[in-house]
Amino acid sequence: MTDHKIPLAGVIGHPIAHSKSPRLHGHWLKTYGLPGAYVPMDVREDDLEDVIRTLPKMGFVGVNITIPHKVAILDIADLVTDRATLIGAANTLIFRRDGKIHADNTDGYGFIANLKQGAPGWKPSAGPAGVLGAGGAARAVVASLIDVGATEIFLSNRTRPKAEALKAEFGSKVHVVDWVQAGNMLEDCATVVNTTSLGMTGGAEFRVPLDGLRRGAVVTDLVYSPLRTKLLDAADAAGCVTVDGLGMLLHQAVPGFERWFGVRPDVDVATRAAVLR
Ligand code: NAP
Repeated sequence: MTDHKIPLAGVIGHPIAHSKSPRLHGHWLKTYGLPGAYVPMDVREDDLEDVIRTLPKMGFVGVNITIPHKVAILDIADLVTDRATLIGAANTLIFRRDGKIHADNTDGYGFIANLKQGAPGWKPSAGPAGVLGAGGAARAVVASLIDVGATEIFLSNRTRPKAEALKAEFGSKVHVVDWVQAGNMLEDCATVVNTTSLGMTGGAEFRVPLDGLRRGAVVTDLVYSPLRTKLLDAADAAGCVTVDGLGMLLHQAVPGFERWFGVRPDVDVATRAAVLR
C-alpha cells in the first residue's frame, strides 16, 4: 500500500460491464472501513501495455485482469509466479514499489478454497476427479487439483486435442476421455468439475448424461450464472455434495485484495449477498 495516497485497484477486461469484481471489492472496502477504490476499466488489447504501465503513476497498487487479456498480460509483466506460468495466464497484478509488475494467477487457489468451504469433508485423494472442459479455467483446475494431491484426473473435452495438450503438460495423472464417453467417466469420480461454459445463461445447454454420478461425490460447476445449474440440480438429486461456482469467483479475489489493501477479507454470507444483490 502507498503511505499517503488512497490506494486504487480495479479490473481490466474487454468488455467489462458484466464484472462482479467492483461490487465484491467495494463490499470488502466498506466492511473493513478501508480507504481505497476499485474500478472497472474497459481496455482494448492494443492499449493494454500503455494502460498497465501508466496505472502505477496514478496511484494504482494493482489490478485484476480478465477476458481477453489473461494470456497476453504474461508478456507485459516483469515477474510471473510459477503458478501463473504453469497455468499460462494471470488474473492478478501487483504494482511493486520498485516499479516492477508482478503477475499471479489465483483461479486455482479460489477453486480449492471454494471446495474446502462448500464441502468441508472433501479430500482430493478420495478418488479420481473428473474434469469436463479443457479451456483456460480447466488449466487452473487441473494444476490446483494436482497441487493439493489428486492422484488421478479424468479429463474430457469436446475438442479432444485440447485435452491431450493439457495431459502433455500436466503428466501421467491426467487421463483423456473422449467427449462421447464423458457421462460414463463420471461413474468412477469422487470429485466432478464442470469447467465448460455449458449451462451458462444464454449459452449452450449442458447435455452430458448425469445418471452415472456417484452418491457422496463432490460436484462443482464453475458456471455461476445461473447459480444453480442443471449439473448441480442433478448432483443434488443423486445424493452428491454440491458446491456452486460463485464461491470460486469470491475466493480468487482474496489474495489480490489482501496485497492491495492490507486486510485478508472473509468470504462469508454477507459477501455472497453483496455480489448477488
Ligand atoms: P474457455 O477457455 O473459452 O473454454 C471454454 C470450454 O467450454 C472449453 O472446454 C470448450 O470446449 C467448452 N465448450 C464451450 N462450448 C461448448 C459446447 N457447445 N459443447 C461442449 N463444450 C463446449 O473458457 P474458460 O475461461 O475456461 O471458462 C469456462 C467457464 O468457466 C465459463 O463459463 C466461465 O464463466 C467459467 N469460469 C468461472 C470461474 C469462477 O470463478 N467461477 C472462473 C473462471 C471461469 P472446446 O475446447 O471444445 O471449445
